[in-house]
Amino acid sequence: MLGKMKAIVKPRPGPGLEMATVDIPQIGPRDVLVKVRATSICGTDLHIYNWDAWAQSRIKTPLVLGHELAGDVVEVGDQVKLLKVGDYISADSHVSDGVCYVCRNGQPHICQNLKILGVDTQGCFSEYAAIPEVCAWVNDKSLPPEVASVQEPLGNAVYTVLAEPITGKTVAVFGDGPAGLNATGVARASGAGTIFLVGKHDFRLGIGKQMGASVVFNVQEPGTDVVPSILAATDGVGVDVVLEMTGNPQAINQGFQVLRKGGRFSAFGIPSNPVELDLNSALIFKGARILGINGRLMWDTWYQMAGLLASGKLDPRPVITHQIRLEDYQEGFALMMSKERNVGKVVMFP
Ligand SMILES: [Zn+2]
Ligand SMILES: [Zn+2]
Repeated sequence: MLGKMKAIVKPRPGPGLEMATVDIPQIGPRDVLVKVRATSICGTDLHIYNWDAWAQSRIKTPLVLGHELAGDVVEVGDQVKLLKVGDYISADSHVSDGVCYVCRNGQPHICQNLKILGVDTQGCFSEYAAIPEVCAWVNDKSLPPEVASVQEPLGNAVYTVLAEPITGKTVAVFGDGPAGLNATGVARASGAGTIFLVGKHDFRLGIGKQMGASVVFNVQEPGTDVVPSILAATDGVGVDVVLEMTGNPQAINQGFQVLRKGGRFSAFGIPSNPVELDLNSALIFKGARILGINGRLMWDTWYQMAGLLASGKLDPRPVITHQIRLEDYQEGFALMMSKERNVGKVVMFP
């Protein structure tokens, strides 16, 4: 399709973003062109906005940001097989090559030559986006666009929680950002027992309660002592499952301290630096299992998520605290970087 569109771009190296008028992307033979209905801001976008060390090493400008979306297919490439014009789709941000050793072993979400939408390719903070068929997911037409858009991060939580059985288990979730709040919701929807949620912001912990947390801890509050409290509440045993959604070294260590012997530790949060850990007590003598969680399983996680959403037991809408116009993106980014963090997910509408 020829023409111009508005898009949020990183025009050149350096902090900040601009709203610009750019060409509608031309699709390749295996892509579809999507008219974006909704798109949401992710932590990754904040790194690119701030132009931190990771962004400087990874991002090539000019770049249209964004990898979480819902939209309608308006054009399909010659070799596209599964999708057709009119399909209502979202996307997994992980663009795999489909041919490497890891892909051929059934793990395309961690492809050896992985590309990320809106990071290594042009993204979806725009009116139109070119999406490779290999990472497109067809939505149920009844799914509201704001919910369909946040499935990509919600899928992280689904994978983190359901990597092993959760029903009836005691769970400690570390982190009250969208990932932790979604993980709380998925654990509750999947029949977890007591869920302890550890965070730093009362606003977000309030959402955590709505998502199904049994007990919340604000570590900023004087007198809060997470480890003894959780151990006391579990008769000194600790929890069956720890879901680490922060990457914070202190949270990681606390997570292992409250994990019961033989328990499961799902590691999703990404530390900024190497983390020191006492392997003897954390892992070996504990007989613990640490699962590294990256992205979402393609497409096991998406099918599980669709089932959970259709059941009505999982509803991510309390986590979607703001819905704004794409033009007002600065407001959305400011909210997500504010000290107070009175925000969950911000969804933007082009
Ligand atoms: Zn994301
Ligand atoms: Zn691959």
